[in-house]
Amino acid sequence: MNHPLRCRCGTLKGHVSHPEKVSRGVCYCKDCQAFAHFLGAPGDILDEMGGTDVVATLPKHVTFTQGMEALICMSLTETGMLRWYTSCCNTPICNTPRDFKFSHVGLIHTCLKDPTRTLETAFGPVRMRVNTKNAKGTPESMSLSTVASIVRFLSSVIRARLDGSYRHTPFFAPDRGTPIVSPKVLTNSERERVTNAV
Ligand SMILES: [Zn+2]
Ligand SMILES: [Zn+2]
Repeated sequence: MNHPLRCRCGTLKGHVSHPEKVSRGVCYCKDCQAFAHFLGAPGDILDEMGGTDVVATLPKHVTFTQGMEALICMSLTETGMLRWYTSCCNTPICNTPRDFKFSHVGLIHTCLKDPTRTLETAFGPVRMRVNTKNAKGTPESMSLSTVASIVRFLSSVIRARLDGSYRHTPFFAPDRGTPIVSPKVLTNSERERVTNAV
């Protein structure tokens, strides 16, 4: 069963296959918070402790069916993660590493809204809480399930590397591994503005 994926305005649409294979996590890092400020609607993206609810899966499980031209990406630094969002309505879509051989995508909850079921029903409970030292408060400790999820996650990344399926990704050119659009890298002053907002 596929789970729908869309930006707020509905220009970009697609789906995530194998929702049973994902790991849900919350990331409290300063960079994820800065990205939310960059998009201008931190209240829609971050929870009360500054966490971003993310569904981690393999890029080969993500398919876009329309509106790809609205999918763009930015990075806080020259070497930072690619943070994908839409040009039509600034909906955060996901984060990916810069190296497509590291087969991972963290889909952000804002593109996974489904009126018929909650994230919990679709993808199961949150199993990882990471970068909790940057949280605004003390999130519930989940160290055991976080470690188990990270091990499971890394083994799926390694499998995708070995069997070559990392090339099946909507975010990178399959032959060269370059992102489908060149990332907008923030200037020092732009970066200062969004990190100071955190
Ligand atoms: Zn949109
Ligand atoms: Zn983060």
